[in-house]
Amino acid sequence: MNSSLQLMEAFCSLQGEAAEVGKPHLFLRLAGCPLRCHYCDTPKSWNRTEQWELHLKEQSLQFQNPAPFGDLSAQLERLALDWNWTVEESTLSITGGEPLVQADALEEWLPAWPGRVVLETAGLWPERLRTLLPFLDAVSLDWKLASTLRETEEAVSPRECVELLQQSELPFWVKVVLTETVSEEELDGALQELAQLSPQCRTFLIPATPGPGHASGPDTDFLLKAQLRNRALGLKMQVMPQIHPILGVR
Ligand code: SF4
Repeated sequence: MNSSLQLMEAFCSLQGEAAEVGKPHLFLRLAGCPLRCHYCDTPKSWNRTEQWELHLKEQSLQFQNPAPFGDLSAQLERLALDWNWTVEESTLSITGGEPLVQADALEEWLPAWPGRVVLETAGLWPERLRTLLPFLDAVSLDWKLASTLRETEEAVSPRECVELLQQSELPFWVKVVLTETVSEEELDGALQELAQLSPQCRTFLIPATPGPGHASGPDTDFLLKAQLRNRALGLKMQVMPQIHPILGVR
């Protein structure tokens, strides 16, 4: 029994990408990630730290890691209240880092969480995802292309997690983040594989957001051609940049 979670931060904001873009969410960012994406804008989440931060409207507070479940739930209630919201009405986006690193602890904590939950994951571990499915309302799955990773992990394919989600009743969608180094062949290969696993899958092509120290996305021509070239696959595909950097929100 863990009864605690290693966190980086919690905050309230507009969802910045994919199917729930623009909707208000509570965000719980867990600490720890085995991947190293070239486009990562949250490298602080890679490793566990002594403290985590709760970002309220007017101030940020620090708490010791790991966060005991009771304290975490109380601080999330406080966060919702700060925005005149309740956790029961809210959607909680669990993100990272890679949340499935702490699947055991999430499996323990989530049954007591009263609100809607969206899990954001790279989908590396199907068995861990399976244990969480009963407590989730939707899954946002990142399909990582090998050329977007600094160190290619052996188990980086989300294939089995897509299969699992396809068999479940749970709403899910797939994000493919594109850097300028992704080739047409690499992208097309991933989309073909996805279409085989999940025909008509809701698929978001997300150009990497330019920023200091990380990769930027391809040009518009590449994005348009990618859509047209792959239209016969039947995926519900759309290009969608991240909106939170445009809006200047967290
Ligand atoms: S999986 Fe997410 S947190 Fe981990 S390196 Fe990639 S973008 Fe960063």
